[in-house]
Amino acid sequence: ATPTAVMVASGKGASQGVLIKGGNALEKAHKVNTIVFDKTGTLTVGKPVVVSAVLFSSFSMEEVCDMATATEANSEHPIAKAVVEHAKSLRQKFGSNIEHIVEVKEFEVHPGAGVSGKVGHRTVLVGNKRLMRSCSVIVDPEVENYISENEQLARTCVLVAIDGKVAGAFSVTDPVKPEAAHVISFLRSMGICSIMVTGDNWATATAVRKEVGIDNVFAETDPLGKAEKIKELQMKGMTVAMVGDGINDSPALVAADVGMAIGAGTDVAIEAADIVLMKSNLEDVVTAIDLSRRTMSRIR
Ligand code: ADP
Ligand code: MG
Repeated sequence: ATPTAVMVASGKGASQGVLIKGGNALEKAHKVNTIVFDKTGTLTVGKPVVVSAVLFSSFSMEEVCDMATATEANSEHPIAKAVVEHAKSLRQKFGSNIEHIVEVKEFEVHPGAGVSGKVGHRTVLVGNKRLMRSCSVIVDPEVENYISENEQLARTCVLVAIDGKVAGAFSVTDPVKPEAAHVISFLRSMGICSIMVTGDNWATATAVRKEVGIDNVFAETDPLGKAEKIKELQMKGMTVAMVGDGINDSPALVAADVGMAIGAGTDVAIEAADIVLMKSNLEDVVTAIDLSRRTMSRIR
């Protein structure tokens, strides 16, 4: 496209809240035939809430909540925020406004798995089955049942282990964005195939896939795994756009032919992307591609 055409299109995009960083992205976007979407915060609202809590040992709900909160308070993950919020509202319900400020020692983040630390003399793990497995905590059939029941409902389970045993669990739900399903079906009508990648587990990911009608899914992928998926698709001859919001999406945003960041996402993702969707609305994925198609067809 001519510099003038690029300028006009960028201006038009900006007025609609679609920031295009340079002519290259605009020129590539019209060729995109595959779009990879991150799940949490991209296809979903990204503000999970705890919808159920259970106990699996003799620790009380208050004890489990306090230990989980103390550990998760150090994490930036949206699931951590959900756990902290839930514990806060439980405390209010039982009439205690005392904020327990509990110090956590040896705090550790396990990317794509959860967090751990020492609360008093107890060792606390908060996260998924993968975290339990890697720390040799047994997940018995009772716990497995709770997990699979909730995952089928597109919920994610957060297990809390105290001193090497699963003491309780939370189930969090993160609703799908209202526009997600019709955007996916509109992209299909434009000849574009949609794929989801997520660090979340297969069962939850599959339930979300069905809800939005996306063509394919890859779950339990770490940040570099997400980028690998993009490269595999490119090797098959696809021109790939990636849409994401998290730090964990930035390698994939860079690897993609066109990286699109959700405006409400992390700064790292916004920096890694070629296009920023300022309104955080998935309809603007269509806006961006449409703008590129119009600009590129004008010069032919
Ligand atoms: P996504 O790709 O969906 O953004 P992440 O890679 O951030 O997911 O995390 C993958 C999974 O790891 C989550 O679904 C959750 O089960 C677990 N996890 C990660 N961080 C935490 C945390 N702070 N607390 C509990 N669980 C966590
Ligand atoms: Mg995300």
